[in-house]
Amino acid sequence: MTVHFADAAASFPVVAPSRLDSFVAAHSFDKPTLVMDLDLVSRQYRALKAGLGRADIHYAVKANPAPQIIARLVDLGSHFDAASRAEIALCLEQGAEPRDVSFGNTIKRASDIAWAFNQGIRLFAADSEEELEKIAVHAPGVSVYIRLIVEVSQADWPLSRKFGCDRDMALQLLDTAKTLGLNPVGFSFHVGSQTRRAEMWAPNLDVMGGIWQAAQDAGHDLSLINIGGGFPAFYGEEIDAPKAYAAKVIDMVEARFPGVAKIMAEPGRGMVAEAGVIVAEVMLVSRKSERDMHRWVYLDIGRFSGLAETEGEAIRYQFETARDGDAMGPCIVAGPSCDSADVLYEKRPMQLPMTLRAGDRVLIRNTGAYTSTYSSVCFNGFPPLAVVVI
Ligand SMILES: *Cc1c(COP(=O)(O)O)cnc(C)c1O
Repeated sequence: MTVHFADAAASFPVVAPSRLDSFVAAHSFDKPTLVMDLDLVSRQYRALKAGLGRADIHYAVKANPAPQIIARLVDLGSHFDAASRAEIALCLEQGAEPRDVSFGNTIKRASDIAWAFNQGIRLFAADSEEELEKIAVHAPGVSVYIRLIVEVSQADWPLSRKFGCDRDMALQLLDTAKTLGLNPVGFSFHVGSQTRRAEMWAPNLDVMGGIWQAAQDAGHDLSLINIGGGFPAFYGEEIDAPKAYAAKVIDMVEARFPGVAKIMAEPGRGMVAEAGVIVAEVMLVSRKSERDMHRWVYLDIGRFSGLAETEGEAIRYQFETARDGDAMGPCIVAGPSCDSADVLYEKRPMQLPMTLRAGDRVLIRNTGAYTSTYSSVCFNGFPPLAVVVI
């Protein structure tokens, strides 16, 4: 397979990872399986780090929490953004130092805050007064950053208004944190996952830079800006190569947060998506009538067994079969479960080989992020996505 990355000077082909492909070719799988190549994770970490420069990388664990990935990232010097007690425990078990793990969820159970504090975690996120109060009681004196809301996102998978607070509340929360005996160190935000081009960050960075300035003017001595995730993966539409993308983002950050002591970035998707491929199988190819223009292709993996990000057809995965040289035609692609929401692509049908049939293997490329974590335990008795790390 050939993947084309956008580059300022030229488009250049990157030959698909042969270790992953040889492994997949040499094995048979009796259920949908995600195969992850640790060397590709390493390569991506190094590329992102090269572009991010002085910024600390806190890998967003939820993108893919396979213990081998966490251990590899610990070895490479990565820090971690954890959202729950279990994610923190995972990072610590794999050798991360507590000072390198941030508790980045703005919605935390009080007992988990206390547990994390006991483990040595000292950096917490909040976007509300009540959350700050919980932190002050259960993790007294720790550093906190306030998450800012991103009102408008150009991302393919935006994080919406669920997280963050507006400018005025954020400034007020810095004061509240101080009053509660906490150490307010800065702000965080997330431009939205799968933000394909670095330029798309600019409008949000402008807003965040303004709030940063307002906080300085109000006398807060802030030291940290956490720019979250958003780093893209290749799903068929052009993206910048990781190093160039990260470098552009950091240049924009430095310009808007002059002299900021510490920058944190939290790539999830951009770190692991391209290091994984799902091996799936066609269960049925059918039509609804003799006149049906579209074939329906039912796979053994669907919305509930790992491909949740097909919701709204937001993320369009790249499918590959052994019959790709044959004539292609439009297909509606669906999962195997008995739930009518389990349709992956219908509004924009997929082009798949006319010869495709039950039993054929389908490779779903660049699926290392947000697949195993979205897989339900056993909907309809279909097994959750299996993971093999090589
Ligand atoms: C999910 C998440 C990330 C990772 O986002 P990507 O777009 O996958 O890089 C980073 N930070 C926070 C707080 C998150 O919730």
